[in-house]
Amino acid sequence: MKVLMLALVLLAQAGPPAAPAEVAVGVLSKYRPRQLSLRAPGAELDIELVAPDGRSRRLAARRASLRCEPGSQIVLDLQSPPPERSGDRRSSLRETVDNRKIIENDLCNSAERRGVQVEKPRFSTVSRERGTGGEGSRGSGGEGSRGSGGEGLRAAELRIRPRGSRALRVRVPGAAERSYPGWLEIGTQGERCRLVVHVPFERYVEQVACYEIRGAGPEALEAQAVLVRSYALAHLGRHAAEGFDFCDLTHCQVYPGDGACTAAQLESLRKVAGQVLLFEGELADVAYFSTCGGHTASAADVWGGETARPYLQGVEDSREGRALCARSDHLRWRFEVERDELCAALRAKLPAAAGRCAVSIAETGRGGWVRRVRIAGPGGEASISGADFHLLMGRRFGWSRFKSGHFVVQARGGRYVFLGRGLGHGVGMCQHGAMGLERAGADHRAILEHYFPGTALGSLAR
Ligand SMILES: [Zn+2]
Ligand SMILES: [Zn+2]
Repeated sequence: MKVLMLALVLLAQAGPPAAPAEVAVGVLSKYRPRQLSLRAPGAELDIELVAPDGRSRRLAARRASLRCEPGSQIVLDLQSPPPERSGDRRSSLRETVDNRKIIENDLCNSAERRGVQVEKPRFSTVSRERGTGGEGSRGSGGEGSRGSGGEGLRAAELRIRPRGSRALRVRVPGAAERSYPGWLEIGTQGERCRLVVHVPFERYVEQVACYEIRGAGPEALEAQAVLVRSYALAHLGRHAAEGFDFCDLTHCQVYPGDGACTAAQLESLRKVAGQVLLFEGELADVAYFSTCGGHTASAADVWGGETARPYLQGVEDSREGRALCARSDHLRWRFEVERDELCAALRAKLPAAAGRCAVSIAETGRGGWVRRVRIAGPGGEASISGADFHLLMGRRFGWSRFKSGHFVVQARGGRYVFLGRGLGHGVGMCQHGAMGLERAGADHRAILEHYFPGTALGSLAR
């Protein structure tokens, strides 16, 4: 019996991990929001206010606007509170204004008790013109304006969840309104709002996949979803120090919220739900990028390290002499720069680039991806990896101008000319190549086998 139990335990531990129910994604930070508005068309918002002392209160509203202030304060303004419900814990909160006062007093009192100077809330409502006209405001009549009479609530943290399974709509200045499934946690960071959405795992994977490989057919999209899921599982908690799993930017994977997928795309993604890429029974270390230019890079050439994954050695990405990603706008690129400007850009990192520097390729890796770049100047000589050079040049001159670490360089008089191929870091799946493979008849399995030789598809434990 004991042996059987042990065998069962071992069986349960082997193979791919189980999927988490939800992931926490830090969103909209690139807009550095100081204020935002929230709604959930057709549903009320269930709002939990957490006071600085950790005590919390719950209330409901149709819409909410809030502003983040220094000192970890969120000033909240609610609109169109729902009618009173018998038996509800909130039934004692008869009217918006009373409702606010109760909580406001609560929060202020606790702050005062701790000797904190409390300022009387003075938050005027977001104008009703803004963002109205949607389903959210229909039928609310004058209730909204009555409920938004210039006084606000204060909290250190908020947790907001739409009732039912509705998505939460979030608008921050400078960005289009985003729609998120799950619930939202709001805190402050200096005078900015810090937003973390808690999203069901598969909903996250679907939208990231559709966004990351826009314009792809179903097979390339399915391959992309397998990679998004595998990557997410391998990097869960990447931003744990900041209180979430992933950011919504290219640093992790771009998560735009709901709306990136069409109904047909969601349908084909359902076929590969829960599928991950495995190598020898373990989650594979995956990566992807836009365009390789005819050959993907070896992870060892780009990221260094001697123990390169056997499935990340770089593959030829062409058929009959034509790159599979030939339809990409980034198949070839050319970047020309004055020598002085180039040397100035490199100087910050490399003192050797002071004065009149000379740049050349020291070592080229598999498929033409640059392994090392040599920089010589009056101050001596130095070399950096091709990936670091790409990073430095991309940051200084723009990622759409210096597109990859796959290039040759020529000095012409006082100028340098870089002739390159592809867009991105070059390791793993070439997205435009995957689309080319699909046009040639490959399914998602064949696409993944091409870019990650030796790996196999597996399913997450449920
Ligand atoms: Zn990130
Ligand atoms: Zn390619």
